[in-house]
Amino acid sequence: MATVQTVLGPVDASALGPTLSHVHLTLDILCWYMEPPDPALRALAAKPLCLENLGLARRNGLMVRDNLIQNDVALTIREVAELARAGGKTLIDMELPGIGRDVAALVRIARETGLHVVASTGFYTQASHPPEVAALDAGALTDLMVRELEVGIGDTGVRAGNIGEIGCSGMPDAPCLPDEEKVLRAASRASRACRRSGAR
Ligand SMILES: [Zn+2]
Repeated sequence: MATVQTVLGPVDASALGPTLSHVHLTLDILCWYMEPPDPALRALAAKPLCLENLGLARRNGLMVRDNLIQNDVALTIREVAELARAGGKTLIDMELPGIGRDVAALVRIARETGLHVVASTGFYTQASHPPEVAALDAGALTDLMVRELEVGIGDTGVRAGNIGEIGCSGMPDAPCLPDEEKVLRAASRASRACRRSGAR
Protein backbone atom coordinates (compact mmCIF):
# COMPACT_ATOMS: atom_id res chain seq x y z
CA MET A 1 0.00 0.00 0.00
CA ALA A 2 1.55 3.30 -1.09
CA THR A 3 1.55 6.06 1.47
CA VAL A 4 2.44 9.74 1.22
CA GLN A 5 4.12 11.50 4.13
CA THR A 6 2.15 14.60 5.16
CA VAL A 7 3.04 17.02 7.94
CA LEU A 8 0.48 15.23 10.17
CA GLY A 9 1.72 11.74 9.30
CA PRO A 10 1.41 9.16 6.53
CA VAL A 11 -1.72 9.09 4.37
CA ASP A 12 -2.76 6.34 1.99
CA ALA A 13 -2.08 7.58 -1.55
CA SER A 14 -5.62 6.64 -2.57
CA ALA A 15 -6.95 9.16 -0.01
CA LEU A 16 -5.08 12.19 -1.42
CA GLY A 17 -7.93 13.27 -3.71
CA PRO A 18 -7.68 16.45 -5.83
CA THR A 19 -4.10 17.65 -5.32
CA LEU A 20 -2.18 20.84 -6.09
CA SER A 21 1.29 19.44 -6.60
CA HIS A 22 3.29 22.69 -6.48
CA VAL A 23 2.30 25.42 -4.06
CA HIS A 24 4.09 27.98 -1.86
CA LEU A 25 2.02 28.37 1.29
CA THR A 26 4.61 30.67 2.83
CA LEU A 27 7.29 32.35 0.77
CA ASP A 28 10.52 34.29 0.95
CA ILE A 29 12.05 34.91 -2.45
CA LEU A 30 14.33 37.80 -1.54
CA CYS A 31 16.87 35.86 -3.61
CA TRP A 32 14.99 37.29 -6.61
CA TYR A 33 15.10 40.90 -5.40
CA MET A 34 16.00 43.31 -8.23
CA GLU A 35 17.50 46.43 -6.69
CA PRO A 36 16.23 49.51 -8.57
CA PRO A 37 19.14 51.53 -9.98
CA ASP A 38 17.53 54.85 -9.00
CA PRO A 39 18.12 55.90 -5.33
CA ALA A 40 14.57 57.27 -4.92
CA LEU A 41 13.11 54.00 -6.19
CA ARG A 42 15.48 52.07 -3.90
CA ALA A 43 14.01 53.91 -0.91
CA LEU A 44 10.51 53.01 -2.10
CA ALA A 45 11.58 49.40 -2.63
CA ALA A 46 12.69 49.13 1.00
CA LYS A 47 9.31 50.21 2.42
CA PRO A 48 6.59 47.77 3.44
CA LEU A 49 4.10 47.31 0.61
CA CYS A 50 1.86 50.41 0.65
CA LEU A 51 0.05 52.76 -1.72
CA GLU A 52 3.29 54.65 -2.32
CA ASN A 53 5.12 51.66 -3.79
CA LEU A 54 2.19 49.60 -5.07
CA GLY A 55 2.66 50.98 -8.59
CA LEU A 56 6.32 49.96 -8.54
CA ALA A 57 5.39 46.47 -7.32
CA ARG A 58 2.81 46.14 -10.08
CA ARG A 59 5.27 47.24 -12.76
CA ASN A 60 7.96 44.92 -11.45
CA GLY A 61 7.00 42.64 -8.58
CA LEU A 62 10.64 41.80 -7.89
CA MET A 63 11.61 45.41 -7.09
CA VAL A 64 9.79 45.73 -3.74
CA ARG A 65 11.34 43.62 -1.01
CA ASP A 66 8.14 43.25 0.99
CA ASN A 67 6.41 41.91 -2.11
CA LEU A 68 8.76 38.93 -2.09
CA ILE A 69 7.71 37.64 1.31
CA GLN A 70 4.41 35.97 2.22
CA ASN A 71 4.48 34.95 5.87
CA ASP A 72 0.91 35.81 6.81
CA VAL A 73 -0.26 32.33 7.77
CA ALA A 74 -3.80 33.47 8.62
CA LEU A 75 -4.12 34.85 5.07
CA THR A 76 -2.86 31.58 3.61
CA ILE A 77 -5.39 29.66 5.68
CA ARG A 78 -8.25 31.88 4.48
CA GLU A 79 -7.18 31.38 0.86
CA VAL A 80 -6.63 27.63 0.95
CA ALA A 81 -9.88 27.13 2.88
CA GLU A 82 -11.55 28.15 -0.41
CA LEU A 83 -9.83 25.21 -2.05
CA ALA A 84 -11.04 22.86 0.68
CA ARG A 85 -14.60 24.15 0.20
CA ALA A 86 -14.31 23.51 -3.54
CA GLY A 87 -13.32 19.88 -2.97
CA GLY A 88 -9.50 20.14 -2.88
CA LYS A 89 -7.81 17.67 -0.58
CA THR A 90 -4.00 17.89 -0.77
CA LEU A 91 -1.28 20.53 -1.15
CA ILE A 92 2.37 19.78 -1.91
CA ASP A 93 4.32 22.73 -0.49
CA MET A 94 7.60 23.54 -2.25
CA GLU A 95 9.17 25.80 0.34
CA LEU A 96 12.75 25.01 1.30
CA PRO A 97 15.44 26.39 3.61
CA GLY A 98 16.40 29.80 2.20
CA ILE A 99 13.01 30.49 0.62
CA GLY A 100 10.77 30.54 3.67
CA ARG A 101 10.01 26.94 4.63
CA ASP A 102 8.04 27.11 7.88
CA VAL A 103 7.16 23.66 9.18
CA ALA A 104 5.08 24.96 12.11
CA ALA A 105 3.02 27.03 9.67
CA LEU A 106 2.42 23.97 7.48
CA VAL A 107 1.21 21.97 10.49
CA ARG A 108 -1.11 24.81 11.47
CA ILE A 109 -2.48 25.11 7.93
CA ALA A 110 -3.15 21.35 7.79
CA ARG A 111 -4.88 21.34 11.18
CA GLU A 112 -7.03 24.40 10.54
CA THR A 113 -8.12 23.55 6.99
CA GLY A 114 -8.33 19.77 7.12
CA LEU A 115 -6.23 19.60 3.94
CA HIS A 116 -3.37 17.15 3.60
CA VAL A 117 -0.15 19.21 3.45
CA VAL A 118 3.17 17.75 2.33
CA ALA A 119 6.46 19.44 3.28
CA SER A 120 9.55 19.32 1.04
CA THR A 121 13.29 18.91 1.30
CA GLY A 122 16.15 20.12 -0.90
CA PHE A 123 17.50 23.52 -1.90
CA TYR A 124 16.38 26.10 -4.46
CA THR A 125 18.66 28.31 -6.61
CA GLN A 126 22.17 29.16 -5.41
CA ALA A 127 21.19 32.75 -4.55
CA SER A 128 18.88 31.33 -1.88
CA HIS A 129 21.20 28.68 -0.46
CA PRO A 130 21.85 28.80 3.27
CA PRO A 131 25.60 28.65 4.09
CA GLU A 132 25.62 24.89 4.78
CA VAL A 133 25.08 24.10 1.10
CA ALA A 134 28.49 25.52 0.16
CA ALA A 135 30.08 23.76 3.13
CA LEU A 136 28.66 20.26 2.49
CA ASP A 137 29.51 17.86 -0.32
CA ALA A 138 26.90 15.97 -2.33
CA GLY A 139 27.08 12.98 0.03
CA ALA A 140 26.41 15.07 3.12
CA LEU A 141 23.58 16.92 1.35
CA THR A 142 22.10 13.53 0.41
CA ASP A 143 22.23 12.46 4.07
CA LEU A 144 20.57 15.72 5.13
CA MET A 145 17.68 15.23 2.67
CA VAL A 146 17.26 11.55 3.55
CA ARG A 147 17.12 12.48 7.23
CA GLU A 148 14.39 15.05 6.55
CA LEU A 149 12.45 12.44 4.57
CA GLU A 150 12.91 9.50 6.91
CA VAL A 151 13.39 11.03 10.40
CA GLY A 152 12.22 14.64 10.43
CA ILE A 153 13.03 18.26 9.65
CA GLY A 154 15.33 19.59 12.38
CA ASP A 155 13.79 18.75 15.74
CA THR A 156 10.18 19.23 14.60
CA GLY A 157 9.46 15.51 14.24
CA VAL A 158 7.74 16.43 10.95
CA ARG A 159 8.96 14.49 7.93
CA ALA A 160 9.25 15.86 4.41
CA GLY A 161 7.26 13.91 1.83
CA ASN A 162 8.68 15.46 -1.32
CA ILE A 163 12.00 16.55 -2.84
CA GLY A 164 11.88 19.98 -4.53
CA GLU A 165 11.70 22.45 -5.87
CA ILE A 166 15.34 22.09 -6.77
CA GLY A 167 16.63 25.34 -8.28
CA CYS A 168 18.82 25.57 -11.37
CA SER A 169 19.74 29.13 -12.40
CA GLY A 170 20.01 29.97 -16.04
CA MET A 171 18.34 26.83 -17.35
CA PRO A 172 17.64 26.03 -20.14
CA ASP A 173 20.02 28.55 -21.73
CA ALA A 174 23.01 28.27 -19.39
CA PRO A 175 24.49 25.54 -17.22
CA CYS A 176 23.38 25.55 -13.61
CA LEU A 177 25.79 26.86 -10.96
CA PRO A 178 28.24 24.45 -9.24
CA ASP A 179 26.41 24.24 -5.91
CA GLU A 180 23.14 23.75 -7.77
CA GLU A 181 24.63 20.76 -9.62
CA LYS A 182 25.73 19.39 -6.24
CA VAL A 183 22.19 19.78 -4.86
CA LEU A 184 20.73 18.18 -7.99
CA ARG A 185 22.99 15.15 -7.54
CA ALA A 186 22.10 14.95 -3.84
CA ALA A 187 18.36 15.18 -4.61
CA SER A 188 18.65 12.35 -7.10
CA ARG A 189 20.61 10.19 -4.66
CA ALA A 190 18.16 10.93 -1.83
CA SER A 191 15.28 9.91 -4.06
CA ARG A 192 17.00 6.63 -4.91
CA ALA A 193 17.93 5.97 -1.26
CA CYS A 194 14.35 6.50 -0.08
CA ARG A 195 12.93 4.28 -2.82
CA ARG A 196 15.31 1.53 -1.70
CA SER A 197 14.34 1.92 1.95
CA GLY A 198 10.64 2.07 1.11
CA ALA A 199 10.18 5.54 2.71
CA ARG A 200 7.65 7.70 0.93
ZN1 LIG B 1 7.67 26.96 -7.05
